[in-house]
Amino acid sequence: MDNILEVKDLAVSFQTFFGEVEAVRNISFNVERGKTIAIVGESGCGKSVTANSIMQLLPKPPAVYKNGEIVFNGENLLNKSESEMTKIRGNKISMVFQDPMTSLNPTMKVGKQIVEGVRKHRKISNSEGKKLAIDMLKLVSVPQPEKRINQYPHEFSGGMRQRVMIAIAMASKPELLIADEPTTALDVTVQAQILDLMKKLKDEMNTSIIIITHDLGVVADIADELAVMYAGQIIEKGKLNEIYYNTKHPYTKKLLASVPKINMDRNEELHSIEGSPPDLYIPPKGCSFYDRCDKAMRICEEHMPEFIDHGNGHCSACWLNHPQRVSKGGVE
Ligand code: SF4
Repeated sequence: MDNILEVKDLAVSFQTFFGEVEAVRNISFNVERGKTIAIVGESGCGKSVTANSIMQLLPKPPAVYKNGEIVFNGENLLNKSESEMTKIRGNKISMVFQDPMTSLNPTMKVGKQIVEGVRKHRKISNSEGKKLAIDMLKLVSVPQPEKRINQYPHEFSGGMRQRVMIAIAMASKPELLIADEPTTALDVTVQAQILDLMKKLKDEMNTSIIIITHDLGVVADIADELAVMYAGQIIEKGKLNEIYYNTKHPYTKKLLASVPKINMDRNEELHSIEGSPPDLYIPPKGCSFYDRCDKAMRICEEHMPEFIDHGNGHCSACWLNHPQRVSKGGVE
């Protein structure tokens, strides 16, 4: 398998005044070249810390890499110096952030912002820069690109600004694009357009994509693989269809149940997951989902569930799926 990125046993903590927060706890996943993986979970589960760790954007301190490797094209990014990372960031790996209004420079014309990142990595003339900015706006389907390159971000709608963010990220033709909640601030119709656009870019430019989201509905159309995170850990991962139709972990089941269905009765209540995730200052000894799980057993409180391989790359960390429980009726 041709993996562009391999995250191996990564653990990231933050040293704070009150103690250490174990934000990411020994996670592993791969991104295949030209494929899309979605990292899904509630706020605070460690998704964005993972994305920012790949980009090496976390300030050290307070962030500390306690363990693991982030291998991009065969090289461990955790061993790179800041100047080496500057050559990779915005060039081979690009990122689209959640809020386009705060991520774009309000004082700089959009065309200049598209070319600015590319100029950091190679010399281009003014006319080449202008052509690149127009081509990128065309690629992301912004109408009248010749006129729009001379406008400022406040002259664009929310959806159009997110397209500009994607144009900036794609201008250097990155091998890996990380999109952190790229559609959260947008209405449903624009969300669908942005997701279609990302699919088109993946197909046309063979870019590998990591999409970070709290919304399982968003990824149904775009992701090849899913990694579900909870309390800093990956608790289920595998091919999208495997996870959607053969869900193994109680938390993933609850997440899926909370996605609104198109044929829902308008009086029907949306499912929510009661309770809140554990405090990562003092991570639980056993399963992190124990306090919220209606299937919890005695063993779950005391022992961290092992990662069980269900075949075809589908794995989950839940005692319910342990072979001994499945064959002998329980490990309680
Ligand atoms: Fe629930 Fe136990 Fe599975 Fe955790 S290990 S999700 S508590 S059944």
